[in-house]
Amino acid sequence: MQSSLTPFRVAVIGGGPAGLMAAQTLAQGGACVDVYDAMASVGRKFLLAGRGGMNITHAEPYADFVPRYAGAAAALRPMLDAFGPADVREWVHGLGVETFVGTSGRVFPTDMKAAPLLRAWLHRLRESGVRFHMRHRWLGWRDGALLLQTPDGELTVHADAVVLALGGGSWARLGSDGAWVPLLAARGVDVAPLVPANCGFDVAWSEHFSSRHAGEPLTTVAITSTGADGKSFRKQGQFVVTAGGVEGSLIYALSAALREQIAADGVATIYLDLLPDLPAARVAEEVTRPRGARSLASHLQSRLGIKGVKAGLLRECLSKEQYADPDYLGRAIKMLPVRLLRPRPLDEAISSAGGVRWDGLDGTMLKAAPGVFVAGEMIDWEAPTGGYLLTACLASGLAAGRDVLAWGARCTGEARRAD
Ligand SMILES: Cc1cc2nc3c(=O)[nH]c(=O)nc-3n(C[C@H](O)[C@H](O)[C@H](O)COP(=O)(O)OP(=O)(O)OC[C@H]3O[C@@H](n4cnc5c(N)ncnc54)[C@H](O)[C@@H]3O)c2cc1C
Repeated sequence: MQSSLTPFRVAVIGGGPAGLMAAQTLAQGGACVDVYDAMASVGRKFLLAGRGGMNITHAEPYADFVPRYAGAAAALRPMLDAFGPADVREWVHGLGVETFVGTSGRVFPTDMKAAPLLRAWLHRLRESGVRFHMRHRWLGWRDGALLLQTPDGELTVHADAVVLALGGGSWARLGSDGAWVPLLAARGVDVAPLVPANCGFDVAWSEHFSSRHAGEPLTTVAITSTGADGKSFRKQGQFVVTAGGVEGSLIYALSAALREQIAADGVATIYLDLLPDLPAARVAEEVTRPRGARSLASHLQSRLGIKGVKAGLLRECLSKEQYADPDYLGRAIKMLPVRLLRPRPLDEAISSAGGVRWDGLDGTMLKAAPGVFVAGEMIDWEAPTGGYLLTACLASGLAAGRDVLAWGARCTGEARRAD
């Protein structure tokens, strides 16, 4: 690609999984790689992902895996074809960490942790010559060079190519604060606004309900709602009532559709099926069964097992009259309306939607800034939790690394022909 006298220098800015995978690919391809990160150490969000049990990828059939990226599936597909879920697992194993497939199909490192994996990866990267520069915050460009804020003041860096892997806009304290958006916009790059993905939502719970039930999980419920496209959807799972709303895996899984619905209509109504395993007719039968002197609450508990937060939700979301009407109550147990007011703030979300738009990219290179490549969550895609996020970050990091190498080879060839 280049002569040994003129090493091809690449600056990778952002040391999350996307940037590190780009660095790995570039170093393997013979480039001279410097990784700059604003934080004191790399991979902070990657490490956090490991705290609650890291899903590194998902083991479902590939034909089911790719559509999880919804509107961005077609754009991501070539990257995933080159480095998909099976490759992710093989790569993890290559770093000396075993994986297992959980009952949900999610793939975890055997000890569920990210730290041993990151340690082994950084060791391998350093061995292959990658140099790390911590507390180097990228501030944009000055006279064509990269401008970095360091503990010793501002620094300008010249590189033959740049990979930006700056992450999305959630959990800013871990480094990915979305401050890059105006920097790229000023360079003419079209960026879709960063919005929360895999996020909770606000609900106007009464003080009475909130103080009694905040933190309680709703195990095995189903949610039905209608997307902004008018299509109805239903999904079963679990979520948690919070002091001011709802969060948890089932809510995260539906969050893109719910967020879009709120953007379109100002509010999203979800319908909770509190007993998804019981048919509506059976629920109606049990609710309307004579209860003698028993209170309605103890009737619901003994006949249908409805208690705690589920019982609280019925009292919270129904009027006194609706609650006292057995026919209405029976239907509401299967279809309880809850109004979601707004997504929780971006900083609290697991990930971001929005980012650099695909039509501004040539592969992973910015059309508005030749020689500048992007990878990871800062590109405009979103996916549910379950390993899809990290897989696409790694796959796009690898793609960016390969694109840089191919671009470098092309530039070198053109320069030679011009001589
Ligand atoms: C609580 C939590 C749990 C998660 N669990 C999982 C999971 O189990 N499975 C899964 O697939 N995904 C999970 N994710 C998501 C996953 O961690 C992210 O999608 C992934 O880390 C994004 O990778 P990235 O490389 O694009 O960006 P990041 O990991 O965010 O890295 C970006 C890097 O860029 C640096 N940076 C930003 N701006 C600048 C700047 N101006 N100058 C220099 N450096 C800068 C940051 O310091 C950071 O190191 C989780 C996320 C959270 C918050």
